[in-house]
Amino acid sequence: MFPRLVIDLSKIRRNTEKLLSILSEKNIDLVGVTKLFMGNPKLAEAYKKAGVGILADSRFENLRRIKEAGIEGPFMMIRIPPLSHIPKMMDLVDYFLVSEPEVCFKLDESVDRPVKLIYMVDVGDLREGVMYDKAVDEILNVRKNLKKAAVVGVGTNVGCFGGVLPTKDNLKFLIDVAKEIEAEVVSVGGTVYLLALENGILPSEINQFRIGEAVLLGTDVTGNRDIPYLEQETVILEAEVIEVKWKPSKPIGPTGLDSMGRKPEFEDKGERLRAILAVGEQDINPLGLKPLDEGAEVVHASSDHLIVDITEVERPIKVGDIMRFRTNYSATLRAVTSPYVEKVYIE
Ligand SMILES: *Cc1c(COP(=O)(O)O)cnc(C)c1O
Repeated sequence: MFPRLVIDLSKIRRNTEKLLSILSEKNIDLVGVTKLFMGNPKLAEAYKKAGVGILADSRFENLRRIKEAGIEGPFMMIRIPPLSHIPKMMDLVDYFLVSEPEVCFKLDESVDRPVKLIYMVDVGDLREGVMYDKAVDEILNVRKNLKKAAVVGVGTNVGCFGGVLPTKDNLKFLIDVAKEIEAEVVSVGGTVYLLALENGILPSEINQFRIGEAVLLGTDVTGNRDIPYLEQETVILEAEVIEVKWKPSKPIGPTGLDSMGRKPEFEDKGERLRAILAVGEQDINPLGLKPLDEGAEVVHASSDHLIVDITEVERPIKVGDIMRFRTNYSATLRAVTSPYVEKVYIE
């Protein structure tokens, strides 16, 4: 059945092995992030087979799924935990990323075994974490009031929200805090931190990378690149053609907004051969698809229809044919979470 997502586990395993070898030279642990695939145990297994220690996810449901498949942790919760989820996490999670004293105390009071907290420091991306200039006070204050839980380190995240890149300055903000609180673990993520490693600006105190995208897709969306030493086309979307017709490239008559509330702009290229595929905004982000057919161009999508200009494609494409696409992070995320997209894991 189509649409479907074909996920190449052997490529993902090779990417993991490659990164592990690069990071271990610098004494950095790789935490394998599974959230892009809803914590699918097959991915967790690929990480483990390659030699990853800690598995991490942003949703406890995903970690539960992994654990119930018989895969061993330790497990890390990489979204700062909602108070209401804490009771469901305590038997499951070994490491928590945290940023609120109240949450730390709640965790402390809920555990009957030692759990490890990594305090998030915001160095400018403006998602989670205590601002770096206020971090030391807040962390030391939390630490002295904990009984069973322990703040073992600090962490930061850039790229994901503000699109901030790792720099000497923002790395120093983190390291200064790490030194002050005598952090055992200095944890960074996501994938964009590989740039710091490659540029030689990564401080030696950093000993943990939380990585998903690089391994799972071979890309770095914040750095806007394919990572040259990793494999891409790990994930391919296959969708079925349901109409092929020559049509004008510009809509006819006055236009309002499209089904998604956007005002699409179309260049007038005259009559074009266009394929409609049975997949849409509900299943993918059309901007994140790259056709594998040379010359094909994604034009636009509505909820259930994807329009692709196939005028320049050499092979004849007809109704019932399958077109294949590489998917970026956001298109993959949506495809994985769409119940209408079949997932096929290949070795
Ligand atoms: C998603 C996430 C990561 C992994 O990021 P990638 O860019 O997919 O490698 C790491 N840390 C945190 C806190 C995250 O939310």
